[in-house]
Parts: sequence; structure tokens; C-alpha cells
Amino acid sequence: MDKNKAFIILGTAHLATTPGKCSPDGKFRECVYSREIVKRVYEELSRIGYHVVIDYPDLQPNAQMKGATWKQEQTRELSWRSTFVNNLCAKYGTANCMYVSIHVNAAGNGSAWMNARGWAVYTSPGTTKSDTLATYLFNEAKELLPNDSKYYVRADWSDGDPDYEANFYVLTKTKCPAVLTENLFQDNKADVAYLTSEIGKQAITKIHVDGIVNYINQLK
Ligand SMILES: [Zn+2]
Repeated sequence: MDKNKAFIILGTAHLATTPGKCSPDGKFRECVYSREIVKRVYEELSRIGYHVVIDYPDLQPNAQMKGATWKQEQTRELSWRSTFVNNLCAKYGTANCMYVSIHVNAAGNGSAWMNARGWAVYTSPGTTKSDTLATYLFNEAKELLPNDSKYYVRADWSDGDPDYEANFYVLTKTKCPAVLTENLFQDNKADVAYLTSEIGKQAITKIHVDGIVNYINQLK
């Protein structure tokens, strides 16, 4: 695909009002970390000349998302993000757009450090181009992450985990190829140490930049 036609939409994770989504000691917050990585990916892709936008850079809900409960705000947030992506698909062409939502996984409920580690990418079931994009991202993760933190988990969203069901929305309701990356675990001590190191931030950024560029390069 012509580089000038590609339209990359980066998705931030959650809102500051979403409960949980942090390390057991509260120091690592998924919503904040996601926005830092998304900004780095945005800057690098822009620097090499791609059209790229961030769906929701702010931490707090906007007027349309504000609700009586965090759950209501989450529902509105996910709907807002999908509408944002689909409006861009309508404007720039669905075939030219792609959506990459950047998250950090969790194994427990946030009260204790857990053993689970690793990197994963999710797609909605049955969308070929999303699978292709996911595979390019996975290949970069395999290449760039340290050996002890890279295992591949791939799932559709029928596994019943409520967190994934909430995020599933942005993969199934968006018209263009869409993937969600879970970049290691926020409740694993070693993963958090790696994620917050400069070398870790650079690796997580590069997985997304190179994965997206390689995906675009093979598009007809
Ligand atoms: Zn998340």
C-alpha cells in the first residue's frame, strides 16, 4: 500500500475512572502507561511519515462519556472509541485504516503479585486482515522481548473473561482491521520492572512501530 494512504489509529487503554488496572502496589497504572507508549508510537510513526492519530489521549472521561458509575463510563468510552474509528474509516476508507489498541495484562484482581507473564495479541474472530496485523506484531514481540517474558497467547473473545469482554467491543464494532495488544502483566513484578525501564519502553514501542510498518508494506 502507498504509505501516504495508510491511516493508523492508536488506541489508549481505559480511563482514570476505571477501577483496578494497576499493579498491586498501585505504582503502575495501565491507563497512564498505555498513553505513554501510544505517544511514543505516535511520534515514531509520524516521524517516518505516516498518518497517525490517537483515539483518546485524555485520562478523564469527556462530557459524552461521563456517567453515574464507572461501568457506565466504560460502556460510553468503548462506544466513543469505536465511533471515532468508524468515522475515520468513512472519511479515509476502511481499507486504508487500522486500529491498534495498546494495553497491559493482569492475571489477578490487583491485590497480589502473580506469576503469569508474557505478551499477547487479540483479534475479533474471523477477520483475516486483523489476523495478519496481529501476526506482524507478534513476530516483532518474539524478536524484541527478553526470552523470559515472551510467550504467545492468542485468543478470541469467547473465553468469558469480563475484562476481555469489555475490550472486545473495540475489536468487533470497528470496521477496519483491529487488534489489541496486552503488553506483559501489570501484576507480575518482573514484567513491571521491565515495562517501566527505558529499554522495556523502547522495546514495547518498537514492537508496535515495526509490526505496523511491516503490515502496511505487504498490503497491496
Ligand atoms: Zn486493559
